[in-house]
Amino acid sequence: MKKFKYLIPKTLDEAVSLHQSHGGSAMYVAGGTDVIVKITSGKLAPDYLISLKHIDGQSQLELNTETGVFCIGGLVTHRTLEMSSVIRLQYPIIHDAVQRIGSTQIRNVATIGGNLVNAVPSADGAIPLIALDARLNIYGSTGERSVDLIHFFQGPGQTVLDRGEIVTKIIVPKQSKRTGAAYQKFGRRAAMELPLIGVGVLIILEEGSNRCAKARIALGVAAPTPIRTLSAERYLVGREITEDTLNEAGKLAAEESRVRDSVRGLAWYRREMVAVLVQRMGMKCLQRIKESEGR
Ligand SMILES: Cc1cc2nc3c(=O)[nH]c(=O)nc-3n(C[C@H](O)[C@H](O)[C@H](O)COP(=O)(O)OP(=O)(O)OC[C@H]3O[C@@H](n4cnc5c(N)ncnc54)[C@H](O)[C@@H]3O)c2cc1C
Repeated sequence: MKKFKYLIPKTLDEAVSLHQSHGGSAMYVAGGTDVIVKITSGKLAPDYLISLKHIDGQSQLELNTETGVFCIGGLVTHRTLEMSSVIRLQYPIIHDAVQRIGSTQIRNVATIGGNLVNAVPSADGAIPLIALDARLNIYGSTGERSVDLIHFFQGPGQTVLDRGEIVTKIIVPKQSKRTGAAYQKFGRRAAMELPLIGVGVLIILEEGSNRCAKARIALGVAAPTPIRTLSAERYLVGREITEDTLNEAGKLAAEESRVRDSVRGLAWYRREMVAVLVQRMGMKCLQRIKESEGR
């Protein structure tokens, strides 16, 4: 393994300026669970690793009780998300995903920002956040900007980040009252498994009925980037949410997916599982809405 220098900035500006001054030979590291694997396997050989872990204010969860906006720091670990009672009670779709990332040891160090920036189609952290319409705050040498998470991914391993930019926050907008959301990672094993397919569904019901006011269906490993299936979402809006309508939405989502054969699974099987899981997660959304109304 090639040797590298490890730099520990204390502020965002320091991190950005270190990145600039070392040009293409520097890269950021958060938990290191993707970066270090790539360095040891020889896929990456940076001269400088710039740690983001010691920058103040990047590892916090903040629910603004007045606006209902939930803010997740880019350096928050999956374990922190998993153990948060706000996540478990108010954003169970995030809990569904993070509790099955890697192992406890991985979740203790791996961050949500690293998961998004790594930008693999199987990133478990991305799908629930897309279903929740999350935005990212990004900081770089020209200041701060914000981008919808669904537009963040450009291709496998590629994002809209410019050189030296840092994902500082994930902003989850206020949730409407009758919202249910659920994620399932589907793989062959229960732990230490990347998903064969990942399905996140969010449904908002109209007041006093089971009619759908808003739907989000996000898929992982169904295309070169995480995607939303717009035809399936449009189909659900205005319809009663039942097993039958969810079944139809599942079929539309499967048709819209761009799954392919890989060592972990064949395209036809992935497509079938998209249909099955969209229906299952849709029913789970209904169940969660009922449970929250019974509280
Ligand atoms: C054994 C094992 C099991 C795994 N299981 C899963 C799994 O089940 N599901 C899953 O989705 N992933 C899994 N992963 C992948 C990995 O753990 C996650 O993607 C993790 O969230 C990456 O976070 P990190 O902090 O370790 O990122 P790092 O490795 O530190 O960084 C990843 C990339 O993001 C960049 N980066 C990191 N943070 C920022 C930031 N805030 N702003 C800008 N750039 C940044 C780095 O420069 C690098 O390019 C697994 C990995 C291992 C080794």
